[in-house]
Amino acid sequence: MIVAIPKETAEREKRVALIPETIANLVEKGLEVRVESDAGRAANYLDETYQEAGAEIVKDRNKLFKEADILISIQTPPKEDLEQMKAESILICFLWALQNEETVTLLKKENITALGMDAIPRISRAQNMDALSSMSSIAGYKAALIGANELDRYLPMMMTAAGTIAPAKVLVLGAGVAGLQAIATNKRLGAVVEAFDIRPAVKEQVESLGATFIEVPDLDDESETEGGYAKELAEDEQERQRQIIHEHAKKSDIIITTALIPGKPAPLLVTKEMVKDMHAGAAIVDLAAEQGGNCEVTKPGETTVTDEVKVIGPLNIPSMLAYHASQMYSKNMLALLNHLLDEDGTPEFDFDDEITLKTTITHQGDIISPILKE
Ligand code: NAD
Repeated sequence: MIVAIPKETAEREKRVALIPETIANLVEKGLEVRVESDAGRAANYLDETYQEAGAEIVKDRNKLFKEADILISIQTPPKEDLEQMKAESILICFLWALQNEETVTLLKKENITALGMDAIPRISRAQNMDALSSMSSIAGYKAALIGANELDRYLPMMMTAAGTIAPAKVLVLGAGVAGLQAIATNKRLGAVVEAFDIRPAVKEQVESLGATFIEVPDLDDESETEGGYAKELAEDEQERQRQIIHEHAKKSDIIITTALIPGKPAPLLVTKEMVKDMHAGAAIVDLAAEQGGNCEVTKPGETTVTDEVKVIGPLNIPSMLAYHASQMYSKNMLALLNHLLDEDGTPEFDFDDEITLKTTITHQGDIISPILKE
């Protein structure tokens, strides 16, 4: 079995799918691992370290794709690369299959078995494979640092000979994996933190981190799906929510937004009017920028100033912490491989198993993923 790791080609992508430590583990299992030259350089994993771990460094990208039995990457490789892959080979990466119909059609046509890291079910048994959570946690941490960096004020309370400085007020909207990490990081930096989410279940988690949970009365009790994700709110509920957020926004130095609804554009939480009512020099870090943004004036990939408020729409934040993001993705990937490979290192596809069933998008020219079949 040849496992191949290409260099990522997407803009802003510095991560690498497998780090040397994980590769040593696969080599021990009897797998042959090939890594494209400089695949890990942007994340500070050098070719020499890969060689020491037992990988072969390959300069010819076409050869890498052509000969791979299992191709592992972060982003979906471009069409030209996928077309090089042999029939019945396996691709594992973030696929976002629901949004990328063309890629799924190509994978079916080329008879490639494709597994989506974004499709791993969020169940306890699959926690160590959950790359979405690992990457969201990095994004939340970094968002807190970006906010602190953009603000022309201290975050902690300071008692100095030059007077006492009050702590900064941070408002976190959306308290999923990223939001909770943003809260924790802001608390460590000494800010006073408030947070809101439409899923009432997170109130306790927010409070356990030392933040205040903002209550919006009479929200639909059914705001959560079986999988723990948020459902879209009705228009009148969204309006009520915005009114309450508006009052809190006026007093905030930093707003960090992380609200997402699977399969839908990011909900609008921070309107132009709210931005206008924030104080000069305040900052908004919009983690939902990639999905259109939670703030009305966010420009994805840019930092803009509206009514003296800095609005930051960062893209691919996990890549900004490429070293640890690669390490965590790599650990998630190893857990998935351990789940799939039998003792001889041969992949087994048991579709009675929930993890294999939900993660496999295409196999033997067919769609397997139940969500895609719907
Ligand atoms: P996400 O990235 O899809 O969304 C981020 C947050 O935005 C969510 O908490 C959501 O409720 C919130 N949100 C959506 N619309 C909103 C609105 N209008 N206003 C305010 N907030 C809004 O979610 P995520 O962080 O990936 O995870 C969500 C949940 O999934 C977790 O909290 C958990 O329940 C579940 N989960 C389970 C596991 C596991 O069991 N292995 C792992 C990770 C996540």
